[in-house]
Amino acid sequence: MPTTARGAVLRAFHEPLEIAEAEIPAPEPGAVIARIGLAGICGTDIHLSHGNLPIPTPLILGHEAVGTVAALGEGVTEDFTGAPLAVGDAITWTSSISCGRCHWCVVEGERTLCETRRVYGINQRFDAFPRLSGGFAEAIYLQPGSAIFKLPEGVTPDMVIALGCAGPTAYHGVVDITKITPGDTVLVQGAGPVGIAAAMYAHLGGAARVLMVGGPQARLDLARSMGVGTDWLDIFTVTDPAERLAWTLERTPFGRGADVVLECTGVPSAVQEGMDAARRNGKMLVLGQYTDRGATPINPHTITKKQLTMLGSWAFSERHYLGHLRNLPAMQARFGLDPLITRYRLEDVNQAMADMAGGVMKPVLVM
Ligand SMILES: [Zn+2]
Ligand SMILES: [Zn+2]
Repeated sequence: MPTTARGAVLRAFHEPLEIAEAEIPAPEPGAVIARIGLAGICGTDIHLSHGNLPIPTPLILGHEAVGTVAALGEGVTEDFTGAPLAVGDAITWTSSISCGRCHWCVVEGERTLCETRRVYGINQRFDAFPRLSGGFAEAIYLQPGSAIFKLPEGVTPDMVIALGCAGPTAYHGVVDITKITPGDTVLVQGAGPVGIAAAMYAHLGGAARVLMVGGPQARLDLARSMGVGTDWLDIFTVTDPAERLAWTLERTPFGRGADVVLECTGVPSAVQEGMDAARRNGKMLVLGQYTDRGATPINPHTITKKQLTMLGSWAFSERHYLGHLRNLPAMQARFGLDPLITRYRLEDVNQAMADMAGGVMKPVLVM
């Protein structure tokens, strides 16, 4: 085990990440040191590097990772599910640690809403102990209270990283909150990782038809080649929302509209477009607005008149991460997740981030 690890550090917004080295501390009781094998780059990392959320710097970015146990702190003998844990085991972990004591954690039972959540790669400083607190690094110090999962039988590191945080995010929003009914016609707005993952969960939930409205065309082609979605519309080719609405309605039973609309775009104006495409008495989940991109005009009359159920979902908790891990073998068997991944070296992290902004589905750093 080396005594130091390299990581990609965000020192200032709008500036390239810089490779820096830090000492790997010995784990305190309850902590675990993991050697990182693969780290995923997420659209949120791009927004964070531009200062779109209030985060501290310097910071090792990265909240999606898979690795192996390098050292166990005193008292750590099993993973979050109770499986025995030993040095060398392949593991992954949830990016956030909720406090487990506040109103939101205890009374509401919604750990994603905890106001003092610590999140690896987002609010853990590089200049404070234990420094190695982000995924874009060769090692990470998993603090006591982290939810660590030994990879279940049949789950590989590649499968875990292929959808990254979009997988459990979609599991929370689509499986846990929205709930697909077998036979549903589902409209997915957006063809990034969250849209792809949401569409996969719509399929697994028994949707009869999964309409994907997103772009660019390369992402839709990738979805089509994997068998994700049943119909695809490129918003960069069909730029008129009225034309897109007509396309969607034509593909729903009796032209009544989608039973379920899953917004996975991050573009505020998509919300009204989704409401217009939903059927009367239908459901709409707003999942894609993870960073604050501002207000948008909507017509609330649509909600009342159609008797729409409007839903929201924020990030994911330990339970959702486990739920997603348990679905990965089925996703791999049905869709094949490998085509989602493009590999880079840690040194090429800035290129990887630029490529993601340019449409690469899931850049993955290989340590
Ligand atoms: Zn993410
Ligand atoms: Zn809490």
